[in-house]
Amino acid sequence: MPDVYNWHLGRNMSYRFEAGKTQRQFAAVFNINRCIGCQTCTMACKSTWTYSPGQELMWWNNVETKPYGGYPDNWDVKLLEKLEEANRGGQVWNASAPSDRAPYGTFEGKTIFELADGSQEQVLGYLPEEREYKAPNAFEDHATKFAARGASLPEHEGWFFYLQRICNHCTYPGCLAACPRNAIYKRPEDGIVLVDQSRCRGYRKCVEACPYKKTMYRPTTRTTEKCIACYPRVEGSDPMTDGLPTETRCMSACVGKIRLQSLVRTEPDGTWTPDPTNPLYYLVHVERVALPLYPQFGTQPNIYYIPPRWVPRSYLHQMFGPGVDDAIARYTHPSRRLRALLQLFRASRKIAFSFDVIEGPKFNEITVDGEKIELFDDTVIGYDSKGQETVRVNVDEPIHERPGKLNSI
Ligand code: SF4
Ligand code: SF4
Repeated sequence: MPDVYNWHLGRNMSYRFEAGKTQRQFAAVFNINRCIGCQTCTMACKSTWTYSPGQELMWWNNVETKPYGGYPDNWDVKLLEKLEEANRGGQVWNASAPSDRAPYGTFEGKTIFELADGSQEQVLGYLPEEREYKAPNAFEDHATKFAARGASLPEHEGWFFYLQRICNHCTYPGCLAACPRNAIYKRPEDGIVLVDQSRCRGYRKCVEACPYKKTMYRPTTRTTEKCIACYPRVEGSDPMTDGLPTETRCMSACVGKIRLQSLVRTEPDGTWTPDPTNPLYYLVHVERVALPLYPQFGTQPNIYYIPPRWVPRSYLHQMFGPGVDDAIARYTHPSRRLRALLQLFRASRKIAFSFDVIEGPKFNEITVDGEKIELFDDTVIGYDSKGQETVRVNVDEPIHERPGKLNSI
């Protein structure tokens, strides 16, 4: 098997194919701290793509309540246990020497590709039963009784958080590696991962292999379907887009303003081309405030998360890797530029390819964890694929007072 570089792991790993030669990569950052669990994203996706017979159990976008919720049931716990069983005590990180090419240090354990037997199976996974898809929002808002030891503010005795999930359009997709029909492909122009329905025979090897369980079997057509990243919107070919790359349905519907989407430039080895003017490059590589979900699986997923501040660190380390402590520290005490960029989330439907910040006057002073923080009314500006300004937002959000006398409605 070819050796490919996986920068999430900080090392080479074996994968069935050479590194994908994508010019750009579909990617997004989800800020877990802001999600209100309203499921507007879930319904925006459902009502667009999966409302037909045979798709009843399909939720390409879902929001589950952690630690107990999961769609399908316990998808991550089941795989983590399988990996641990196959490499007992070995699934560990060495975070002592992070670098630009290995921002989280080195994963010394084994990935889903490296723990597969290589003959019968290309990927270590499991096939969920149909019943495991039937309660996509079980345990909604259920807190643990265990104290959130080691969490930063706000601290609670019990805790839970919402985890928003779509296909990660992985750089090294498990689904693609497992397909015996080569029906799954990754588009070179934007890294979106799609299933060729005419080639698929419904063997469900991809369902077994996707560590995030985001390929789904449709019994009425006997083929697999999955999130298509709303590619007509990303291309700007959908009539609603005015010809400009536009955010997906789940992103643009987000009520909590937790999501920011972009397309990042990539190098032939799958790393991101340095570009601090790209909002996602800035969040992931410059500030390192957003982290991949279960990077140890090895697929180099392209949805990144700002971890929740109120959750025990040991739980977050397992889920997002060793970058958690730095990410939470930077989010809790953001730089001026980061604070302004956080205002760009869900400010425009047009995909922001670059951003800029204009500094403004000081307008307030607050104390966080005993530290004094000055607030400045800076302005963040988002630019589309042609470099045209699409939106500008201030840090100091205006307050509108309703008139004392309400209207008659
Ligand atoms: S998340 Fe799953 S379905 Fe999506 S690209 Fe990765 S392996 Fe494939
Ligand atoms: S729409 Fe946004 S805030 Fe609501 S559940 Fe989805 S991600 Fe969370």
